[in-house]
Amino acid sequence: MPNFALPDTVFEAAAAAYPTPFHLYDEETIRRRARLLQQAFAWCPDYREYFAVKALPNPAVLRILKQEGCGVDCSSETELMLAEACGFAGEDIMFSANAMPPAEFAHTRRLGGIVNLDDITDIPVLAENGGIPETVCCRYNPGGDFRIGTAIMGNPGEAKYGFTFDQLREGLADLKARGAKRFGLHAFLASNNTDTAYYPTLAEVLFRAAKRLSEEVGLPVAFVNLSGGVGIPYRPDQPETDILAVGEGVRRVYEDVFPAGGVGIKTELGRWMTGPAGWLVTHAVHRKDTYRHYIGVDACAANLMRPAMYGAYHHITVCGKREAPCDHVYDVTGCLCENNDKFAIQRALPEIAVGDLLVIHDTGAHGFSMGYNYNGRLRSAEVLRTEDGGFRLIRRAETPRDYFATLDGDEAAGALGVR
Ligand SMILES: *Cc1c(COP(=O)(O)O)cnc(C)c1O
Repeated sequence: MPNFALPDTVFEAAAAAYPTPFHLYDEETIRRRARLLQQAFAWCPDYREYFAVKALPNPAVLRILKQEGCGVDCSSETELMLAEACGFAGEDIMFSANAMPPAEFAHTRRLGGIVNLDDITDIPVLAENGGIPETVCCRYNPGGDFRIGTAIMGNPGEAKYGFTFDQLREGLADLKARGAKRFGLHAFLASNNTDTAYYPTLAEVLFRAAKRLSEEVGLPVAFVNLSGGVGIPYRPDQPETDILAVGEGVRRVYEDVFPAGGVGIKTELGRWMTGPAGWLVTHAVHRKDTYRHYIGVDACAANLMRPAMYGAYHHITVCGKREAPCDHVYDVTGCLCENNDKFAIQRALPEIAVGDLLVIHDTGAHGFSMGYNYNGRLRSAEVLRTEDGGFRLIRRAETPRDYFATLDGDEAAGALGVR
């Protein structure tokens, strides 16, 4: 089930201190999950989590994760800049490429980060933009379907990412000739997977491919990067992913394939790390009864895109009404001129009045960061609930000035009425 650790009084206190909507993140939950993940992989002497920055790119959160010993996985120049500003350096940084500007390779190499190449054609580009490092990572796409047992969990054959096996063999030989001394192997084959067999199944694919490539090319395996994809229970009837069982499952495969050890393991979890540590807090501002019953809130898809984009479920509670019967059925909507701007569709909820405070759960990953400005709507603030129970504004809400900042100066001034 979603993370119900915070009582309604916390959301009410935050909403008394900051205008809604805002995302609230809980430091204690973030630290607890980082420690639990490390416990799950404590059997591996060379294990490290590289938090996927795109999930929650706020420096306050990145600094917390740094204190917990995590590195960062970046995929753009601005994410690299953010990582550097937060004090990540050298092999604290992983850079996962895919069709990016060559200068981003050079930027990663300047920071001493680990480059994760997406394609065989990236090799000469890296050679000319920063140079081939001694340790280099490549992304594998095994093609076909990705199955756990008989269930299809993903379709790598349709995904834009990664090298084929033959390209890896050829590419690693080329990297070796250009001075690489060891390699990492990475793959991301299914997203938001709560099955404890996901990582172990992926690990088996990667461990065996890495071992074979190492033997065929004569380059040692430095690490295997299991990437992201471990899921969280967005629905109340879904069980929590047992991360300790996940780590144990990976250990069994590891001992089978690499009995002598010596190969590191890296993960790049985003959603599992911070998803359950965030909530979008919003007021009901409108009620409408037509062919359906609608509750309009002061947040919209610009603040949380997942329901509109993927039809994703996010649990919603109404402060002060957790025990009330869910005997009303509503569509909970934002204000965008898009009929998919709905946080919930035909959802059974307690009766909601204008002015009620609603909490949209599990917004701590791929929530704020997917935000956008459609309809000229502005992105919200982000608030951290610190370990002492206080609140800290870690990003202010956008203002019209931010929205107009990319226009020509005169046009921006005109729009702001300050010409
Ligand atoms: C998005 C992404 C992640 C994180 O994915 P989650 O589903 O949030 O765990 C990790 N690695 C790469 C390369 C990604 O693109």
